[in-house]
Amino acid sequence: MSPRGRLDAHVHGYPPVVARDPLDWARRRGEQHWGRLVTQGPQGWADAQDMVAAMDRLGVEKVWLQGWYWERAEAAREQNEWYAEWLARYPGRFLASCALHPDMGDPVSILEDAREWGACGVGELLPQVQSPRGWQDPFWQEVLAWTEREGWPVLLHVTEAAGHVYPGRVETPLMDLVALFETWSDQRWICAHWGGGLPFYSLNRRVRKALQNVWVDTAAGPLLYHPSVWKIVRDLLGAEKIFAASDFPLRLQPSRPAEEGWRSLWRQLDEAPLSGDEREAIAGGNLRDFLGLRD
Ligand SMILES: [Zn+2]
Repeated sequence: MSPRGRLDAHVHGYPPVVARDPLDWARRRGEQHWGRLVTQGPQGWADAQDMVAAMDRLGVEKVWLQGWYWERAEAAREQNEWYAEWLARYPGRFLASCALHPDMGDPVSILEDAREWGACGVGELLPQVQSPRGWQDPFWQEVLAWTEREGWPVLLHVTEAAGHVYPGRVETPLMDLVALFETWSDQRWICAHWGGGLPFYSLNRRVRKALQNVWVDTAAGPLLYHPSVWKIVRDLLGAEKIFAASDFPLRLQPSRPAEEGWRSLWRQLDEAPLSGDEREAIAGGNLRDFLGLRD
């Protein structure tokens, strides 16, 4: 374990009112896509208290609560409310991203309000699910103008370009991402799930340049990839571009409780053929530097 405590850059928390009957909650809010993903895949559930208890057992100092790519404004607003409450209830244990939806209204006031309640980024975004025009929706353009100017990171869901087929899978064409990174070149991006294979294309000269301000997280990694991914992406991007992340309470070992899967992520990192410094950077040092966190 890192002496300063591990940081996890990508988790999702839900209050009991959501976890009790996710399908019913999804139906009432018009969140069919989310409902399909969380009821037909290896989803687990954790509220703030469960999350902090698991963090204490695993030596995780802080987790970054990521929002969701909600299809409606109502769920995004509701999630921001419960994340704001969790941040206040457990100081020092949670970081949070603001959830967004084009029907929420003026993005600048939502983002300024999010900064007030303690958010430090935006995500997890998947505009193809959130708005018919995807990134072309003026709402997202205004969001990026603000986040780029204010130095706020944006975390994107990236689907592996070749890989598993599962209910709710949505393609995230890598070339669209490359074009986005080129257009918003001062924006700091985090590509979730090891960037869905994008790190390989950093060998391409154009893509390498486009990835200058792009980091990857390891969310859901043990579920998707062979453990050699740690070393290979280190070779491709450099250890400084990788944030350890789980996607907790996703069950990374589908037949086991979510916490065991989370433990397996840290074990994989401990066993990866990396230097001690690299391991410590990935387990938390990179994220501390990235967000300017003080101890
Ligand atoms: Zn994701």
